[in-house]
Amino acid sequence: MSDHTRVLIIGSGPAGLTAAIYCARAQLSPIVIEGEPSSTSDQPGGQLMLTTEIENFPGFPEGIDGPELMGNMRAQAERFGADLRVTKVQRLDVGTRPFRAWLSEDDDEPSVTADAVVLATGARSLMLDVPGEARLLSHGLSTCATCDGFFFRGQDIAVVGGGDSALEEALFLTRFASSVTLVHRRDRLRASKIMQERAFANEKIRFAWNTQVLEVLGEEKVSGLRVRDTQTSEEHILGVTGVFIAIGHVPNTALVDGTADLTESGYVRTGPGSYTNIEGLFAAGDVQDDHYRQAVTSAGSGCMAAIDVERWLEARGA
Ligand code: NAP
Repeated sequence: MSDHTRVLIIGSGPAGLTAAIYCARAQLSPIVIEGEPSSTSDQPGGQLMLTTEIENFPGFPEGIDGPELMGNMRAQAERFGADLRVTKVQRLDVGTRPFRAWLSEDDDEPSVTADAVVLATGARSLMLDVPGEARLLSHGLSTCATCDGFFFRGQDIAVVGGGDSALEEALFLTRFASSVTLVHRRDRLRASKIMQERAFANEKIRFAWNTQVLEVLGEEKVSGLRVRDTQTSEEHILGVTGVFIAIGHVPNTALVDGTADLTESGYVRTGPGSYTNIEGLFAAGDVQDDHYRQAVTSAGSGCMAAIDVERWLEARGA
């Protein structure tokens, strides 16, 4: 038998958990499908589980660890009665009322039915899509310095990207590595000034400007990067035993592909507020935001979604 809920929240990053706190306090008894621990794209707690210190979330003057912040949000949602489940939505049907969600591919019957859904499935790491990358993932190639940095003690490694994520990864990795080469395709960083200053001041960080990665080298483990100078087109090998990819993210929209309106860049189109083109389907956080992408804006949009859901349900007399 399916569980019925007034609000199903899919995702447990700052958007999903803030929506859960607000919905639970509004007595809507939300079910929250958190994601699966084994997955890098939709693990419980979202991308902040992969970060170190968060210095810009208001209320924490000394900063706070990503996992600790998410643990706090989770505890706060549970305190008000949100039903949190560590599993994954395999399929979502927003073409019928109530909406239907399957937690197992094998079931005919949906596991959960819901009057409203908040999609807060976040985003996942973009990859370079070059030879060797997929094969060497977890064999010296990673998208998460916090998770894997420890394994690169005393090694020469590379971080690919020029945004805040890349610099954050590079700075964190200097705790372990002998050297960190930041490989960036342009001659200017996209990252915030404060992160740039820290990176420039760190003696362990080198910069490979105007450098495009052509291939990740190595048989069973990473042994280097084949790169090209974008100005001269000259190729050479960068000898590193670890590579971290930090070139941005893509939204996790698989559950609504073909149903919800997406923007040109593939994010769920919202507005006004968290409303999507499908009545009763709301979206919050990185799955619908390719502009701000901050923990605090994500949390704010989760709050908006909860308020929108509450008013929408009330207007329908549900
Ligand atoms: P981002 O700002 O989009 O930066 C992505 C970087 O990767 C850019 O430098 C880009 O190069 C490069 N890139 C993209 N595709 C590439 C490709 N195919 N090959 C090589 N390089 C490629 O992404 P992000 O760093 O993940 O940051 C996302 C958002 O989160 C931002 O708003 C950021 O401020 C925020 N953030 C904040 C913090 C913090 O405040 N502590 C930490 C992490 C992230 P180009 O510059 O040439 O486009």
